[in-house]
Amino acid sequence: MTLTGIDRRAELAGNLERVRDRLARACAAAGRSPAEVTLVAVTKTYPAADVRHLAALGLTDVGENRDQEAAPKAAEVGGLPGPAVRWHFIGQLQRNKAKSVVRYADVVQSVAGVRLAGALGRAAERLRERPLDVLVQVSLDGDPARGGAVPGGGVAEEDRVLDSVLAAVAAEPALRLRGLMAVAPAEEEPAAAFARLSRVVAAVRAAYPEATALSAGMSGDLEAAIEHGATHVRVGSALLGARAPLR
Ligand SMILES: *Cc1c(COP(=O)(O)O)cnc(C)c1O
Repeated sequence: MTLTGIDRRAELAGNLERVRDRLARACAAAGRSPAEVTLVAVTKTYPAADVRHLAALGLTDVGENRDQEAAPKAAEVGGLPGPAVRWHFIGQLQRNKAKSVVRYADVVQSVAGVRLAGALGRAAERLRERPLDVLVQVSLDGDPARGGAVPGGGVAEEDRVLDSVLAAVAAEPALRLRGLMAVAPAEEEPAAAFARLSRVVAAVRAAYPEATALSAGMSGDLEAAIEHGATHVRVGSALLGARAPLR
């Protein structure tokens, strides 16, 4: 490893220790075991070398939000020595990207449309050997333009109604419905949004008992998410550093 590679790995190790410490405290406060919570490192805008450093440090769940960036990064990481990495796709996804994403993703956390579920199911059936794990993204502000399917229905177009999206995923033989994902709205206290989410989770689990995962919480609000039952937290900046703003 080059000297800068060693420095970067040490920096990531320090950040990881701080994040794991926050997770441990949040779990203790909530009376939960840290073993119930999977840390997903959101590596968007950061290079394949950082994914390899994190994997060497024992963090092998990685999240990306744009196919144009994730596809080449996953290919590059796959060509480097080191432990296998699990790729979580966490961004808004266009149907025409389904064929690309099913080739490298282990989990798609951001399924929020009936037609997208169909496109992913067809692509997974043709291009994968194993089923694709899927989380359905729930909108917590009722505005599907900002990502997520809308609970309750009535307001959204049929494609974006939560119950319809869940049924569409469950009907695809090459998809496995594993749970829900959500992002807290910027203009609301995260704890209030996650409390609302936990009621949606309870209703969904009653209908789909295998849908046990809840992906919620990021660098700024992971404590509130753990308090409200998150099984996966998606942490970017607290692990990797502040991202350069998108052009
Ligand atoms: C970027 C991103 C994250 C990570 O955000 P941080 O605030 O950097 O931890 C989590 N979830 C989604 C969907 C993201 O796009």
